[in-house]
Amino acid sequence: MSKKTSVSIVRIEKDINETVRKAVDLVGGLAPRISQGDKVLIKPNFIREEPSHVGTTTNIEVIKATVALVKEAGGVPTVAEASGNQYDTEYIYRTLGLREALGDVTVMDLDQDEIVTIKNDDAIALKEVGVARTVLEADLIIGLPLLKTHMTTSTTIGMKNMMGVLPQREKWKMHMSGLHQALVDLNRIAKPGFVIVDGVVGMEGFGPTIGSPVEMNLILAGEDVVAVDTVGSYVMGFQPQEVKHLELAGEQGLGIHDLNEIEILGEELESVVRAFKRSFGSKVIEVWAANQYRLGTFLLNRFNYDIRGFLKSVSDIYVTKPQLTKNLCDICGLCVETCPTGAVTIDSYPRFDYTRCTKCLRCVQHCPVKALRPSRKPATILKLFSA
Ligand code: SF4
Ligand code: SF4
Repeated sequence: MSKKTSVSIVRIEKDINETVRKAVDLVGGLAPRISQGDKVLIKPNFIREEPSHVGTTTNIEVIKATVALVKEAGGVPTVAEASGNQYDTEYIYRTLGLREALGDVTVMDLDQDEIVTIKNDDAIALKEVGVARTVLEADLIIGLPLLKTHMTTSTTIGMKNMMGVLPQREKWKMHMSGLHQALVDLNRIAKPGFVIVDGVVGMEGFGPTIGSPVEMNLILAGEDVVAVDTVGSYVMGFQPQEVKHLELAGEQGLGIHDLNEIEILGEELESVVRAFKRSFGSKVIEVWAANQYRLGTFLLNRFNYDIRGFLKSVSDIYVTKPQLTKNLCDICGLCVETCPTGAVTIDSYPRFDYTRCTKCLRCVQHCPVKALRPSRKPATILKLFSA
């Protein structure tokens, strides 16, 4: 009988660093997977500039813990990402304070990297795609995804997180090629050799950027991205067969997609399941997403149009701005201090001048008591369609 692949699930009892270590140790640690001087690419999820406590981006403490483990194993870590299409990776790093948090660790914007075109005649959907050179040259890729719902792929965890190794102009090929199969093809080119899931705060409903946060306080780890995603999806209340790209990945031998073939270490699986609200009408959204990109390509070719600007204007439908929950606010004034545009004043409670607010969400990130959160107006409407 073949040996089962292992996935660990550890509940955060004290601090995140300790929990990451425990989850990684349970599945054998990083030391056997890293040789002295290996280039280790750490791929978080920085799709946009929102802080981790709203469930959008990887918690910086998880990144720091991973960097420390890589260094201890003798590897040379590089943290790298190319954000969602309508966002600016450097701006996200700045807003979230990533470089300051990581000190001397190299942090790369993969949109600025050299792009290497990979041709793969054996691929079913993604026959040709440009990938950042740093990704291709890594000895090991460690993915640091979150537990999020997704409007087209049901869940987005480790496999989907690898879309961030593609520069912006290549990402829409994924949608236009048929996203589910394209994800399998992409993960053959850039497959994480290890995955640590930041399950501190996940996202339910209209993920991956405008859903609602779900406090899970978990860390998952494993070396088979398909198995990790299968377990992660189950934890979110999704049966393995509901996530099309995982099903295809299992059928095509990319990894293990059968829960019976996965050894769960740490917490008992059923004890951590929390049924996430689903996004609505994924088929409709998938068609819309593919055509949004087709329209973008047409505009680029026909009018030399600014694609990022186009996508941003589409995504600005989901206007995000800071919103106060008064009964949580202790009027500390930190939001006033951290706002770069002077958009916040205190008049018994913080008040926001939205004509000055650039929606950078720094105030949300710095509020010590989570009294501020991003409000997403259309998301409220879309939530009506979330199951
Ligand atoms: S930072 Fe948070 S707690 Fe402090 S005043 Fe602003 S909203 Fe209130
Ligand atoms: S109020 Fe200031 S800190 Fe908050 S999102 Fe707006 S510009 Fe950024």
